[in-house]
Amino acid sequence: MTVGNGEKLLLQKFESQRDVDSFVDKIKEEARIVVTGLGSPIPGLNEKHREMSAFVLLAGEEDTEGAAGQFVHPEKKRLDPVVAEAKDLIQKAGYIVNGDVSVPLKAIPEINSLGTSYFLGLSGGQNMTGEEVNSIQKKLFSIYTSAARAGASDIHIDSLPEGCAINFRIYGQIRNYSHETFAVGQQLCHVAAILATEGDPHYEPAKFQDKNMRPGEYTLPHGIQSLRLHWNPGSNGARQCVIRLNKEPRRIRPEDKPFLKAGFTPDHDDAFARFRQKKSGLLILSGPTGSGKTTTLTMNATILYFERETRIAINTLEDPVEQPILGAFQTSVPSSEYRVGLKAMVRSDPDVIIVSEMRDQESSDQAIHASRTGHLMMSTTHCDHAISIPSRIMDMGVDKMNALDASIMKMWVSQRLVGVLCPHCSIPYTEGVKKGLRSQFECESVQNIIPEEYFSNLRMINPVMADKMLGCGKKGCRYGQSGATIIAEVIEPDKAFIKFLRDMETEKAEQYWLDELGGMLLEEHAMLKTAYGIIDPQELLGVSENPGALRKDRILTLLKDKGEKWFGSGISKDKLEEGSTREKTSRS
Ligand SMILES: [Zn+2]
Repeated sequence: MTVGNGEKLLLQKFESQRDVDSFVDKIKEEARIVVTGLGSPIPGLNEKHREMSAFVLLAGEEDTEGAAGQFVHPEKKRLDPVVAEAKDLIQKAGYIVNGDVSVPLKAIPEINSLGTSYFLGLSGGQNMTGEEVNSIQKKLFSIYTSAARAGASDIHIDSLPEGCAINFRIYGQIRNYSHETFAVGQQLCHVAAILATEGDPHYEPAKFQDKNMRPGEYTLPHGIQSLRLHWNPGSNGARQCVIRLNKEPRRIRPEDKPFLKAGFTPDHDDAFARFRQKKSGLLILSGPTGSGKTTTLTMNATILYFERETRIAINTLEDPVEQPILGAFQTSVPSSEYRVGLKAMVRSDPDVIIVSEMRDQESSDQAIHASRTGHLMMSTTHCDHAISIPSRIMDMGVDKMNALDASIMKMWVSQRLVGVLCPHCSIPYTEGVKKGLRSQFECESVQNIIPEEYFSNLRMINPVMADKMLGCGKKGCRYGQSGATIIAEVIEPDKAFIKFLRDMETEKAEQYWLDELGGMLLEEHAMLKTAYGIIDPQELLGVSENPGALRKDRILTLLKDKGEKWFGSGISKDKLEEGSTREKTSRS
């Protein structure tokens, strides 16, 4: 152990601010290391400890286990529980405390900020002073808080040499929150990495990186359970940091009709109920990232758990576990190990198995095998339409006889998540078109789908509110939208339907599903919600590449038979979440 020649300086008395300043200068000059700064390697050390204590390594020591240093604490506070706890954590981390130094309380944050710049330098980023780190940290937390308040699912920090844009994804759409300089953008990306403690310990700006942030050292905004952070390197030193906000799960209770609340139709709700009554079989859910697939699976599993009076065993394989599922044993594994994980699951005596994704042939084969051997399986995949689910898994290499086996394929679902118009500030679509707020082309596309007699029902987002995070100020309004709703299609394949698909007669299969099995296309579901003023017509056009191909004969029937019942007066308003329904507007 090397004892530096400056040791005595640490033991001096502090009588004035100048003494403190010279002490801090000495630490700087002699390159002493303050181990307790932000980004500190001491597990469990938090902001509270950092306000009351610091740990300074002696000159010549490295910041590794076994290094000896001086423990700095406020005058007369040596026995304060926070101080004692900090000292304990430092020693538990393997450092040797060989001296106590008492300083004025206000000097401690200053000393710790020296450690901050040391650890920032160590982790490969640009140099920042402790003050800069503190100000960036504040900015970052204010971004996190604003994103949580705005109901954002993700934060994008796009830091480019020409400037940095901070965007939120809210109800499925990217909205700009603020702009910063490139320098600040780089610092935000970097400090976000320091504050997130799970994952790659060193920040490497030229690499793809992943980390998680959970409450502990720092508190997360209200309603947020954890943050999942991902960094992408860009050209010319650009950096992107994408932060997923994992919300605290809402309690799911069957009596609240969670599927209807989420935006599924009563027909969909019944289909999920029929699936839950089966003893074995496979449910596959498809949709893009962020379409709420995990939430749908969680709802279905939770309701099942209640319906079977908690007398079932549920096991999950997730990468990673996103939200807790009541009564389930949840396992986080990298998706590359799903195949091995699934084998283990089957041996774990479960009734229900949830695998968060069928990502390759082996895991898909395992999932099919499990559903054939008396388990209720639920999983997801990526494709546009429910009817394409079997071809998607065949593309992975799954045998056609398995992908198209009516005895195991019980339910195929495709879903999207779209914004719900704020009932307080949305405006009639016809008014927006008259004012030239929407293109003639868009209007014609919409007219092509929505029958004339329903046209006056259409509503659109209020352009004045579209740039305001808190919209019109009414409860739940964000940028003129008041929530998100599911647009979905659900297929419960039967033998005849499967036979069409086996014979490669996809179109016939679809018509059979629509006409004989009472099916409804994703686009038709979006059409209904548009015609009743719940979603913006742009969402309808966004759901499908070719909504004009919808069958005209079905549209009017659906509007009269289903729309009236579901969105007219069939479901009482309080059964639906606020904002996801609307009283009928008068028709011309
Ligand atoms: Zn509003």
